[in-house]
Amino acid sequence: MLEVRGLAKHFGGVRAVDGIDFAIRPGEIFGLIGPNGSGKSTTVNLVCGLYEPTAGQILFEGQDIARVPTHKRLALGLARTFQNIRLFANLTVWENLWMAENAPAHQAGTSFLKRWVGGRSDARERITRALEFSGLAHRADDLAGSLAFGEQRRLELARALAAKPKLLLLDEPAAGMNAGEIAQLDERIRALQGQGYTILLIEHHMELVMAVTDRVCVLNFGRKIAEGTPAEVQADPAVREAYLGTA
Ligand code: ADP
Ligand code: MG
Repeated sequence: MLEVRGLAKHFGGVRAVDGIDFAIRPGEIFGLIGPNGSGKSTTVNLVCGLYEPTAGQILFEGQDIARVPTHKRLALGLARTFQNIRLFANLTVWENLWMAENAPAHQAGTSFLKRWVGGRSDARERITRALEFSGLAHRADDLAGSLAFGEQRRLELARALAAKPKLLLLDEPAAGMNAGEIAQLDERIRALQGQGYTILLIEHHMELVMAVTDRVCVLNFGRKIAEGTPAEVQADPAVREAYLGTA
């Protein structure tokens, strides 16, 4: 579904991502892990089109999208959540989802009002489903800024889902969550896989990564140092060294 080849992003002298390759199969939950600053978020930003790569290819369903604008990637079926929550605090929960649903149209210049008036029922249905799935149906008319932290994280997920992606990129979705919330997230991620989504999961909570992923790619200093099943990467000495800073 997604393949990156020789992908690199340099910021001046900083080689944030330094020539990585990996491929995500349809229906798979693919983990991307590594110590802080190893290039995980930069990789997601490259895949979504927030950054242009310094080098390399990004193939989505066989098409090189490395220079396709972000809104077109969203329309192709790539949606993401942010490590640092990015919601419209002064819009309601429903409005946040509506914006996501129509983002490709806005950015392509179609009038918001026209779309709103012509509001398609399938869009409403998708938003309702995303809200129910995320346990936020009862909060639909509340301002996003008034939600508790865990609810905001769920709204981020719902917003990505409302864009009906094929590939969902989750950048540290469990950050700041308590154990109960992480258990719920674990269930939701598995449920999404059951519904046919393909997922790229960046996560620091190793228990969650090891529990839900099919395969894991490990980055360190912008390079891939290991790839395999959760059990394989856990047993890999290079991975242990990267995390512990010692052999
Ligand atoms: P991770 O998500 O694995 O913690 P990041 O991808 O955020 O790591 O960052 C990788 C490296 O790239 C870090 O050294 C970070 O400081 C640097 N970096 C990330 N984004 C930028 C940017 N926009 N400008 C300059 N340096 C950046
Ligand atoms: Mg990050």
